[in-house]
Amino acid sequence: MTLVVQKFGGSSVADAESIRRVAQRIVDTHNEGKQVVVIVSAMGDTTDDLIDLANSVSTKPPAREMDVLLTAGERISMALLAMAVNELGVPAFAYTGQQAGLHTDSKYGKASIVGVVPERIARTVNDGGVAIIAGFQGVNRHDDVTTLGRGGSDTTAVAFAAALNADVCEIYSDVDGVFTADPRIVPSAHKLAALTFEETLEMAAHGAKILHLRAVEYARRFDVPLHVRSSFSNKEGTWIVDENSRRYLDGNNEAPIISGVSHDKSQAKITVKGVPDQPGAAARLFAVVAKAGVNIDMIVQNTPTNLEGVANISFTLPIADVDTAVAALEGAREEIGFEKIARDDGVGILSLVGAGMRSHPGVSVKLFEALQEVGVNIDMISTSEIRISVVMEQKLLDDAVRAVHTAFDLDAEGEAIVYGGTGR
Ligand code: ASP
Ligand code: MG
Repeated sequence: MTLVVQKFGGSSVADAESIRRVAQRIVDTHNEGKQVVVIVSAMGDTTDDLIDLANSVSTKPPAREMDVLLTAGERISMALLAMAVNELGVPAFAYTGQQAGLHTDSKYGKASIVGVVPERIARTVNDGGVAIIAGFQGVNRHDDVTTLGRGGSDTTAVAFAAALNADVCEIYSDVDGVFTADPRIVPSAHKLAALTFEETLEMAAHGAKILHLRAVEYARRFDVPLHVRSSFSNKEGTWIVDENSRRYLDGNNEAPIISGVSHDKSQAKITVKGVPDQPGAAARLFAVVAKAGVNIDMIVQNTPTNLEGVANISFTLPIADVDTAVAALEGAREEIGFEKIARDDGVGILSLVGAGMRSHPGVSVKLFEALQEVGVNIDMISTSEIRISVVMEQKLLDDAVRAVHTAFDLDAEGEAIVYGGTGR
């Protein structure tokens, strides 16, 4: 029997009417003869509201108590959804993360999954019922509730899909799927039929708001096919699968070279000037940054020819972490031995992603030519096997994204885009 895991985000269950609509979709799927396991997020902005409440009674809410509080959001939506499904004549049972068998470590607020024991859920669906599980929460070995971090319900869904060996994990939100670029910036962007896990990871890590990164990593590890789609329509969304399935879904043996252009305005750049050009200098510098808890992305070092024995090291990091990083570096000026620090909060990062670029030369030339046409002066470049990222002036980022989208033929209803059916 086909087993479908369906995950509904907060926007899909924001009010009673939405909950009834989602219940109808669950019942429709059940009536197609499929087993259905549902993961649900807290209604609308509930989680944000609970955090605000916590901060209004406590200057530093204890992490354990914060998790007790936040897990309440998902308990509300799971219970209401189970009632709404029952109302439509299908037996449905709500389970907390703990009841459903999701075990985590003890890092409150950002717990990792250590195991899923899905027997109770399996029994429910084998008996003909629908199981509705609270997203983003689990239990640690002290029997305390934990949460997986903001947006963690995607990961809950993938974890149950893997543990139950589901045929598909459907991720529902208010968008139709994954687009070639952000449609608010590129009006001619279109929905992708399919993407590989790797492409999705690269896009999500470089500014595209698709899915919780951890959920995609989990899906790749356990090879769980994901279907990202809208709960407001019945349209096919975007399938996220391994590379072979992706070719099959595209109805084409050659996946398109480029899948999308993502952009990121949340990063800044720090340049540390006059660092001694000696073994160990970079290690000392980045040890200081890491100790401050700052996650960096790109690093570029260059050695000015007019200055003997010193180098400049630039790196990108989240804007929110710049103050912390600068303070930590200033505090270690003697130890590292640099001259000065320059910060630039006005950078933008464009990333071109596509599994096909692995085997196609000339992708970077085409990218740089497109950037030249809109007058972009490239600041830093970083690449992976399937991604090229460019740091530039943020003012030009939107123009650059549009130009690159056009240059790689992503605008038109290109051949690889027209969706031919799921085949599943
Ligand atoms: N309700 C949680 C949050 O808003 C978990 C989730 O939605 O995935 O972060
Ligand atoms: Mg949410």
